[in-house]
Amino acid sequence: LIASGLVFFAGSIAMVNGAYIETWIAPSTAAVFTALFRDKKLQKYIFVENFVFIILSAVIMIIRHPYQATNYLGHMMTMSAVSAVMLLISDLIRRHYDLLTEDSESSLEKQQEMENDLSHDLLTGVYSRKKLMENAAHHMGHARLNNPITVVMVDIDKFKSVNDTYGHDNGDVVLRRLGEILVSVIAPKVTVGRFGGEEFVLIYEGIGRKDAENRVEDLRSRFSSQQYDFTDRRITFSAGLITAYDKVDFDLVLKQADDALYQSKENGRDRITSGDYQS
Ligand code: GH3
Ligand code: MG
Ligand code: MG
Repeated sequence: LIASGLVFFAGSIAMVNGAYIETWIAPSTAAVFTALFRDKKLQKYIFVENFVFIILSAVIMIIRHPYQATNYLGHMMTMSAVSAVMLLISDLIRRHYDLLTEDSESSLEKQQEMENDLSHDLLTGVYSRKKLMENAAHHMGHARLNNPITVVMVDIDKFKSVNDTYGHDNGDVVLRRLGEILVSVIAPKVTVGRFGGEEFVLIYEGIGRKDAENRVEDLRSRFSSQQYDFTDRRITFSAGLITAYDKVDFDLVLKQADDALYQSKENGRDRITSGDYQS
């Protein structure tokens, strides 16, 4: 505001001394500056200031040379017109900048949304397989005797028959319901991801095998007591749980969790089989 005032004041003095060109440049300069600031309020102030100076310098000229009054009134009108046009142009520039920043903000949002899509499973809300594997490597790197890593493989029982009997859409309802239960346990040291179709993997870091088993048991009982509006059938899952106390390849632990899951299925489903990682 001060800078544009000085520019305009210089312009007014130039006008008093008969150098009209400079006074025309003044409002243009101020206008462009306000556009760069992209501040609507500042823009308004500067143009009020401009008009005050235009009128002021014309009044000074008319008082000094009253016989040329019409001439100076003409200059005043021209400068007002130039100033108004510049106001319009600077406003267009400002709007254009606003649009540009809005654009880049929304594309940033879109980018974050896309990253979220990549790290989360769309149907169930738990981590995607990609993110699960990333976290798994991270957790396994922390494994030691007093910071055990427990890997749990969860698989819905007789899910094919749920789909076949009640339809794929109702199958999705069951998957989503399990997702809701599993998402609630995600924490900095607990990873839950969808491994494939109706298979989920949980990773607990820093708690003992018994503790992890209790937590999965709680999830099992919550899931199996869910009510569905399309059936009274009790839908359950089976799990295989393996605890590792030392740095080891995640795939090896997962393989043993899968073997434990197979045991659960063999023994009648709706249960958890657990063990320590055997190298
Ligand atoms: P088990 O108790 O031995 O695990 O039997 P199961 O029927 O659950 O096992 P199976 O692996 O034969 O069947 C898994 C089914 O899961 C087959 C497939 O159609 C279904 N499925 C996989 N992904 C989805 C999905 O996104 N939505 C629905 N509705 N079904 C899915
Ligand atoms: Mg399966
Ligand atoms: Mg299954």
